Amino acid sequence: MYSTLSASSCHLLSRRSSSDGGSRASCSLQFWTCHRQCEEALTATSYGSFGASAAIARGSERMGGFPKLGLDEKHGACLLLGGRGGKLPRMFERARVGGHLLQNGNRKKNNATIRAILQWNRRPQMAGSPPRVVVVTSGKGGVGKTTTTANIGMCLARLDFKVVAIDADVGLRNLDLLLGLENRVNYTAIEVLNGECRLDQALIRDKRWVNFELLCINKPRYKMPLGFGGKALTWLVDALKKRPEGTPDFILIDCPAGIDAGFITAITPANEAIVVTTPDITSLRDADRVTGLLECDGIKDIKMVVNRVRSDMIKQEDMMSVLDVQEMLGLPLLGVIPEDADVIKSTNRGYPLVLKKPPTLAGLALEQAAWRLVEQDSMKAVLIEEAPAKRGFLPFFGG
Ligand code: ADP
Ligand code: MG
Repeated sequence: MYSTLSASSCHLLSRRSSSDGGSRASCSLQFWTCHRQCEEALTATSYGSFGASAAIARGSERMGGFPKLGLDEKHGACLLLGGRGGKLPRMFERARVGGHLLQNGNRKKNNATIRAILQWNRRPQMAGSPPRVVVVTSGKGGVGKTTTTANIGMCLARLDFKVVAIDADVGLRNLDLLLGLENRVNYTAIEVLNGECRLDQALIRDKRWVNFELLCINKPRYKMPLGFGGKALTWLVDALKKRPEGTPDFILIDCPAGIDAGFITAITPANEAIVVTTPDITSLRDADRVTGLLECDGIKDIKMVVNRVRSDMIKQEDMMSVLDVQEMLGLPLLGVIPEDADVIKSTNRGYPLVLKKPPTLAGLALEQAAWRLVEQDSMKAVLIEEAPAKRGFLPFFGG
């Protein structure tokens, strides 16, 4: 039993294939074929919905660039398109791929770049009532909390949810840098609390997605101000809820590293948590400790993002698999983000990865994580089944 979406997607694809006729049946079969062929299938299945597609990507690499991926716009399902260099059917000329519009004109380019697609072509259904206050934490520093906050926040905004991201990493604030908003921070939460400005003056609205706003606690390189603690942050969150513009759907809090005062402050107003970890023992131990502290604080809804995963290292048994991580932490999996040089590039450019076109591997993974955050029930465990017995197409598809 693995907690993944991939299996349910497989079920869905195969179910659709039987009712929708031949072409989809073969697409679905190819899905199964690649999935089965992927040597890291077990690891990949624990990747969740993205993992299945990552498996396809790797499988396809091994098979000389075949198969191609596409989206069925009508059904919002991921399909694999047959034929080496074959043309995309007309129905795929305008399909949404993880929020990116795949159009006829740039289709070729996208196809060359997009290796992994598994995205429902619909707006996710919000589970729980807004505002959902989510703290992104890890214990260890440098594992990707800020990257996760910035990108999941942007995804949620793009999915039409109102998002406020609070950079609670007071001493080493950098969420503004990742978002490219550093030059627009004139007021911070401290000035709001001191009565020197209004809350909406301290909220920086992103020009790309106007329903995304950033709130910094303090000027960069300032220490945690005396008297600023959990109560003050809770007051700010309450003030955000009561804004005349309306309550935000999500308030994401980027937590500082460690488990001292800054951490306690950041988790105080939260009712959910995302624990970011990398698949190494130091980060896992910290994540485990943090999970215990979150639970003590009454935060029961805790999910995990495994970041900087390298499948080549997992294969060589030099890195823990996502399954191992899941077993060690016992947390539901929100997302698995591969190690990707594009993350560093986007950090340095102040341009969130998920906005990058064409989409990148890590960007799509973060997007999947955002989807699952919205729809909490997509985290249900489902059974991974064997590929269907029908193998007639295998030699033809290179299997
Ligand atoms: P934290 O907020 O936990 O301290 P950051 O989000 O600032 O961590 O990330 C630390 C560094 O790791 C950044 O330079 C970032 O670009 C890099 N990084 C994060 N995730 C990935 C990834 N999946 N692949 C490659 N680099 C990453
Ligand atoms: Mg950070």
